[in-house]
Amino acid sequence: MVSQSNYSQSEEGAVAKSTETEIESALETARRQLQHAADHLDIDSNVVDRLKHPKKVHEVTVPIERDDGTVEVFTGYRAQHDSVRGPYKGGLRYHPEVTRDECVGLGMWMTWKCAVMDLPFGGAKGGVAVNPKKLSDDETERLTRRFGEEIRSVIGPTVDIPAPDMGTGPQTMAWLMDAYSMQEGETVPGVVTGKPPVIGGSKGRNEAPGRSVAIIAREAIEYYEKDIKTTTIAIQGYGSVGSNAARLLDDWGANVVAVSDVNGGIYDTNGLDTHAIPSHHEEPEAVMRHDAPETVTNAELLELDVDVLIPAALGNVLKVENAEEVMADIIVEGANGPTTSAADQIFTDRGIPVIPDILANAGGVTVSYFEWLQDINRRAWSLERVHNELDEEMLKAWDVVETEFANRDVTWRDAAYIVALSRVAEAHEVRGLWP
Ligand code: GLU
Repeated sequence: MVSQSNYSQSEEGAVAKSTETEIESALETARRQLQHAADHLDIDSNVVDRLKHPKKVHEVTVPIERDDGTVEVFTGYRAQHDSVRGPYKGGLRYHPEVTRDECVGLGMWMTWKCAVMDLPFGGAKGGVAVNPKKLSDDETERLTRRFGEEIRSVIGPTVDIPAPDMGTGPQTMAWLMDAYSMQEGETVPGVVTGKPPVIGGSKGRNEAPGRSVAIIAREAIEYYEKDIKTTTIAIQGYGSVGSNAARLLDDWGANVVAVSDVNGGIYDTNGLDTHAIPSHHEEPEAVMRHDAPETVTNAELLELDVDVLIPAALGNVLKVENAEEVMADIIVEGANGPTTSAADQIFTDRGIPVIPDILANAGGVTVSYFEWLQDINRRAWSLERVHNELDEEMLKAWDVVETEFANRDVTWRDAAYIVALSRVAEAHEVRGLWP
């Protein structure tokens, strides 16, 4: 890893020295992207400097009793980046590689994601450094309840609202909401989003990030004057984001030719039947069990000659080592942070547009906002209303970003950052410094 403790190493240009062994952290990428966008705007440099740092990072230890009676202690974090536009908002991740810096970087992205969608939220991210596959359901429940207790004083429906992310889901949010509510002495559905609908979750929340990726991919396909009916698409990851995006694009007539999960991918130049391939939620890691003419590795999938590539699994998969090999005409980021800064520069030089995560997968947090509104009002929306309002919000955000893209000589990522950063910076300037 590149050192994460020295900010000067994170500045623009340093990434050019990246080698195969040096993958930048989410925080380094996020800081570099922020500076890149700020260079295009007339923003008080004090505000930009402030935004390179989180407001607070909470680190907690989470001891749990394993099923065999032993006790194991895990480390958890909640990084709160910025709340100038509203309560902190962002997911909780259970993954062995969760670190403080990763949470800070991902929390920064949440600030921009909420701002680009014009949601009244700031940005946060958290998680526990644990391999959830190695925990039983009971152990996961105990971990979640104890983690919830450890961060209870810093979350709340008007303070910081967690949601699902990698390794967590609706059940995790249900346990967290229950743990919080039991201590508060009242049911507080608005403390988390992404809950099951029966306890105040929103219909359509699970599918929302994938749905927004599909909508934004469709807009990008149209922008670049391709016909969706003849467009070929490769998608890395068949979890909630990848499978929902794949199925919608398939329904709209696109040819989804390759999909993958952690074990590898399947490839059919005539297009796959995306509805017949089980998503991770329906049957974990089942992609390779589906019949297809060819199989590909995850690395090969990224280099397929397709119109649209959607990395929808892990961060940092498009990097200096493979960016020259990518054959797609358009990249739409389904995962958070799938492209390193060095790869981003290579794609810019090669004229390959990269539609950024903070716009493409923002459907998740947008429906989280709808869920939060439903919780406050104690009134559930129909799935049709969720879909209609999400579609409307995504198209509105696409239009604003497209206008910046068209008016300035910048990348799609810079255009989205310019929209987000202008809103956040203006809010900081109007509110001023206290005291
Ligand atoms: N974890 C999701 C994301 O990265 C959703 C966050 C939320 O709904 O608060 O956008």
